[in-house]
Amino acid sequence: MQVGKPSSGRSDFPPRVQAALSVLRTQHERVTRARQAVIEVLDGTEEHLAADEIVARAEASAPGVHRATVYRALSTLGELGLVTHTHVGGSATVYHLAVPEPTGPATSVPHAHLQCTNCQAVIDIPADALDSLIRRVDREVGFHVEPHHAALLGLCADCRRSSLPETGQKPQS
Ligand SMILES: [Zn+2]
Ligand SMILES: [Zn+2]
Repeated sequence: MQVGKPSSGRSDFPPRVQAALSVLRTQHERVTRARQAVIEVLDGTEEHLAADEIVARAEASAPGVHRATVYRALSTLGELGLVTHTHVGGSATVYHLAVPEPTGPATSVPHAHLQCTNCQAVIDIPADALDSLIRRVDREVGFHVEPHHAALLGLCADCRRSSLPETGQKPQS
């Protein structure tokens, strides 16, 4: 947690935060406390956070910044292409910082999402895992699928194991 640490210069920020802030400056967008707090929250987590959770964490690291301002910052960062969102089960939406860092955590490189309809777990898979689907649908139907925009629904390995019938094949493990 770098809050409260004396800020001796921009170089104190983690690489992705620095990269995101410099994109803002390049686009002549202001680096506000709310925007910076949102970027820091997203850089600092591998979780799939919904807007409410992001705002709560950003508020904690930027006290005094109004909640509505943080929500607006999140939405502006999305419009600027710095934050991506993915629709998951129900009406939930989760967010990632769209600043790739090949050496960073799994969530810092572009990826697609699976969600288990039983336990709601959100699982990351490499973006290119869906390339052949995208190409085939494009070729055969002329439709451009954007599978990264929403989680693909299904049943995770754990839930499949526990839903296997008692009789018949024994689950592995
Ligand atoms: Zn599951
Ligand atoms: Zn993810």
